[in-house]
Amino acid sequence: MTQAEQRVRIPQAVIVKDLADLLGVTPIDVIKELMKNGVMATINQVVDFDTAAVVAADLGFSPEEEGAAPAAAAEAAEEAAAPESTSRRIMDESADAVTRPPVVTVLGHVDHGKTTLLDSIRRANVAGGEAGGITQHIGAYQAAAPDGRTVTFIDTPGHAAFSEMRARGAQVTDVAIVVIAADDGLMPQSREAIDHVRAASVPLVIALNKIDANNANPDRVKQQLMEVGLVPEEYGGDTVVVPVSALRGEGINDLLENVLLVADLQELRANPKRDAVGVVLEASTDRHRGVVATVLVQTGTLHVGDTIIAGLAYGKVKAMNDENGQRVKSAGPSTPVMVLGLSEVPPAGERVTVLKDEKEARAEAETRRRRLEEAGTQTDGVTLESLFGEIHRGAVRDFNIVLKTDVQGSIEPLVRALEGASVEGVNVKVIHASAGSINESDVNLAVASKGVIIGFNTSPEPGARKLAEQERVEIREYRVIYDILDDVEKAVRGLLQPVYEEAEDGRAEVRQVFRLGRRNAIAGCYVREGNIRRNSLARVFRGGELVHESRIDSLKRFQEDAREVASGFECGIQVDGFSDFQEGDEVIAYHMEQTR
Ligand code: GDP
Repeated sequence: MTQAEQRVRIPQAVIVKDLADLLGVTPIDVIKELMKNGVMATINQVVDFDTAAVVAADLGFSPEEEGAAPAAAAEAAEEAAAPESTSRRIMDESADAVTRPPVVTVLGHVDHGKTTLLDSIRRANVAGGEAGGITQHIGAYQAAAPDGRTVTFIDTPGHAAFSEMRARGAQVTDVAIVVIAADDGLMPQSREAIDHVRAASVPLVIALNKIDANNANPDRVKQQLMEVGLVPEEYGGDTVVVPVSALRGEGINDLLENVLLVADLQELRANPKRDAVGVVLEASTDRHRGVVATVLVQTGTLHVGDTIIAGLAYGKVKAMNDENGQRVKSAGPSTPVMVLGLSEVPPAGERVTVLKDEKEARAEAETRRRRLEEAGTQTDGVTLESLFGEIHRGAVRDFNIVLKTDVQGSIEPLVRALEGASVEGVNVKVIHASAGSINESDVNLAVASKGVIIGFNTSPEPGARKLAEQERVEIREYRVIYDILDDVEKAVRGLLQPVYEEAEDGRAEVRQVFRLGRRNAIAGCYVREGNIRRNSLARVFRGGELVHESRIDSLKRFQEDAREVASGFECGIQVDGFSDFQEGDEVIAYHMEQTR
């Protein structure tokens, strides 16, 4: 067995932090591996065995499920070790994997037509149901593109919802549509939306809306897009810009086709034959039906009768409805379904997995509850210090900043100065900058991107302050630009891997040995060079050969404890763990000095 196949036993559900301990890596390593597999998780989040096994396998371990029968464990390990592991959201290349519909979120400035666009797509292109039939709002729906392929839309538009899901650990969006009204142009929230999408590394398509409006000026919008680094295809760039009129339903098919083209580049695949893995989009209680949760199935197929768990909520799926209110028996990859049967309301963004039966689910929920209690309710948020710690350990190389200022004019010089504070190995990145107070969506962006928030002459809204406290995201408020740069530069310098070198303090010659019982001896010394300090590290040499290496335990001048004894003086030295002094030995005292 090679080292690369080292076995590791993983519980059915494990907190990211604990998984890191099990694997002997930092939590950030685990989070990064999870991200590679399309799972956004925070340090205190619980992941299921399947997910943990993928990470373990990626890190060169052979995972086994704790408590599983040996055969099942071997199978699970095999599954996890194989590149076609089925827990992957983005790529699932097992023999059974099929292309899955892209999941799309619509973002953009208020009143630019997000809701109208979602409605219009839904009305004209309802998949599977009669167009114009009664539809239910369940948080997501599917539409058919002209070529018959399906696109799944998340029904809650806006970057607040988008980043909130990400902050909770769920990245469901494969393609983002940023709606920009042609008569209004790129507005602050358009920029914000673009930043949020970029921070999530999700490809985007621009829907240039309201082209029917009298004062529509598509060319101006394209110019403005270029100013934020999005070069439309017609100008030689790779940003897809599709003119639409959400109100009149024009250009919708073109938009869907383009979304599919962008999605195709990602080769989105999933295995419908495995147990379902999904995410809760929204959930509530209904007086008649109990807990109602919309689950977006990400891979596998969810069946009525399956036992599922979402965070601490669990239960047998009693019934499922699609967005047309139709009962369905099963739901495959990228399909949203309304699920009845959970024991409690799970938070949006919670991961859904399938377990064997209710007994196992109850036990699992209990384990999770216990672990959560043990881990405390606090989540590890991001502060300047913690971020530096992580960068310091080499776990993070991007120092992400969300910057808010009082006036637009401060942004550009600040961004330039901040990003200029990058040094080799540490990249200071302003992932979003805008004028205004610090709001909840800023906090969510910082949580999702593991960044800090810097406010210049602006302060957080009460809701944002509360959320930041809850998520333990640091908001630093400044009044002076110099202070911001000073802190960031200091931080960045502190982030660099420190380099330590030995620095010699002094040398002493042993002239007489005083025995104190069998295990202790004091070396009566004469300090020849430099200073001997208590607590210095020390090496004992005999005839030029090293005989012991530890630290100075006690240092005395006559009978008194001394902190330091200079050259030309005599002293008594005790060295930790060493009593075998001989006359003529040399004690060299030194300390480690940080040189960078
Ligand atoms: P949201 O805030 O982004 O969700 O925007 P809405 O969808 O609520 O639309 C805001 C306003 O713009 C509404 O009065 C819509 O009727 C109007 N609107 C949306 N799309 C279009 C369009 O394509 N053309 C025109 N002329 N108006 C539109």
